[in-house]
Amino acid sequence: MVDGNPGESPTEVKLDKSEFVKEESRQLRGTIASELAEGELDHFTKDNAGLLKHHGLYQQDNRDARGQKNEDGSRKGKAFMFMVRTRIPGGRVPGESLLAHLDLCDRYGNETLRITSRQGLQLHGVIKQNLQQAIREINQTQLTTFGACGDIERNVMCCPAPVRHSSVHDQLQATAADIAEELKPRTTAYAEIWLEDDQGNRENVSEFTPVDEPIYGSRYLPRKFKTGVALPEDNCVDILTYDLGLLGVVEQGELRGYNVFVGGGQGVTPSAAKTFPTIAQKMSFVDVADAVPVARAIVEVFRDHGNRSDRKTARLKYLLANWGIERFRSTVEEYLGRPMSDPHPADVTGVEDHLGWHSQGDGREYLGVYIENGRIKDDEGVRSKSALRKIVATYGMSTRMTAQQNVLLCDIEPSWKSEIDAILADHGIIPGEQRSQIRRLAMACPALPTCGLSITESERVMPGILDGLEAELSACGLDDEQITIHMTGCPNGCARPYSPDIGLVGKTAGKYTLFLGGNTLGNRLAFNFQDLVPLEEIVPTLSPVLTYYRDERDDGESFGDFCDRKGRDDLVSRLDRGGDGE
Ligand code: SF4
Repeated sequence: MVDGNPGESPTEVKLDKSEFVKEESRQLRGTIASELAEGELDHFTKDNAGLLKHHGLYQQDNRDARGQKNEDGSRKGKAFMFMVRTRIPGGRVPGESLLAHLDLCDRYGNETLRITSRQGLQLHGVIKQNLQQAIREINQTQLTTFGACGDIERNVMCCPAPVRHSSVHDQLQATAADIAEELKPRTTAYAEIWLEDDQGNRENVSEFTPVDEPIYGSRYLPRKFKTGVALPEDNCVDILTYDLGLLGVVEQGELRGYNVFVGGGQGVTPSAAKTFPTIAQKMSFVDVADAVPVARAIVEVFRDHGNRSDRKTARLKYLLANWGIERFRSTVEEYLGRPMSDPHPADVTGVEDHLGWHSQGDGREYLGVYIENGRIKDDEGVRSKSALRKIVATYGMSTRMTAQQNVLLCDIEPSWKSEIDAILADHGIIPGEQRSQIRRLAMACPALPTCGLSITESERVMPGILDGLEAELSACGLDDEQITIHMTGCPNGCARPYSPDIGLVGKTAGKYTLFLGGNTLGNRLAFNFQDLVPLEEIVPTLSPVLTYYRDERDDGESFGDFCDRKGRDDLVSRLDRGGDGE
């Protein structure tokens, strides 16, 4: 290990400005508290906005309102608002916490609650004066926004299925919870700024008393760090797209340990050709008891050797690319203080979406409820917010969020089933298992109007794209094919668009890069099939490829495998010939 304070690399040269902001922030305080108290100010200054991410907050502005004018013709200022993200290890949300979030989105947000692609919950459209109350109320439900964003360990994901046929799923959840606990920052800034003690008093925010921050030091990590835990037959949380993935190895019904995958990542910066998406590499096998120390050692290696001079190439995947897996592994072993075993042959083999009714194995059942784009809301036709409110308030069950942005209602007595089905039907919710395969697995990031980085629409146009693709698949007789489509409004890739069968990434206004050749398992990168595809041309562009797939696929071959086998040039030539099915 290097000498000196955690986070101080012996070889660093010119630090990125954000490193100074973190270092001088008094353990993530900055001047957030004083700016929060300034009632006149509807936003935070830039450095504080960066620090706020560690507290689970993104400062945004209503993109739909940009450019609007006042009555006198002058341009209106930005309509600032905040996204408030709750960190939920393993996606486990007590029923009362879900009810509280549903109330909060009505009182302080835009009346929608969004399940994130990483099993968190997001309020959108919260104005500055309501931030503190919203955060306090979230914390009163035993959850927190602290650590949901920022240069630290983000939400630790885990397969959320409440399966009790054996202890394996509960053990995976325990590992995820233990990693989240070990890797949470120790600073007391969050409590001081946002929370009250039992007597309703805020702690003194003007007196800074540093605490030991043994993992993160004064600069925290060079960039965000993401972790997921899954089983080979069910990679529902997409672990190979994260910095750290733990794949449970089960033998004779017992969890033996984990294969450790490192260096996955989806984000790309358009202006930086040196950035790229990757799939995580298999590094080692560890016992269950070693999962937490190994996760910590990996984070510490990243802390000390990640690139702190260029945030665009700071993620762990770039360190892996520079070092190679062998050097990385031996450095992790050095930090761990002992060697790790070579990887077990186990690999990802399947993905479940957990929709519909399932036995838990303990006499009770769980129900996966499909939520389009993870957006819980009341529309004219579909009122998922009211339905969930009524069901959870009536039965008091616990809930879990999936990585495909759906809700699992857990611990259901068989005698409740028919009433729950009736409530969902009354609120216009079609059972997930009756949805088309492509819709069940589809995912889109929020993009416009809330995300400051979005270049194109994503969530708002995805339902229309799915309508078109469902019609095409039906015409081809391919309705039952498991085809995954993920869409984002910019190359940052929040909805993981670089590894599914079909990926759509916003490139410029109204136009997308279309990726093909990934797969549902999430263990292969897709290739750039067509660039600058206008929104209205997405379905017509895919149509001849789907026809080609129908006509020339091998037995049992998936769409992604077919595209990967044929390759870009062959598929493009098919496109040029108009997809005539020759
Ligand atoms: Fe925003 Fe881009 Fe992430 Fe979508 S992928 S939420 S547009 S940063």
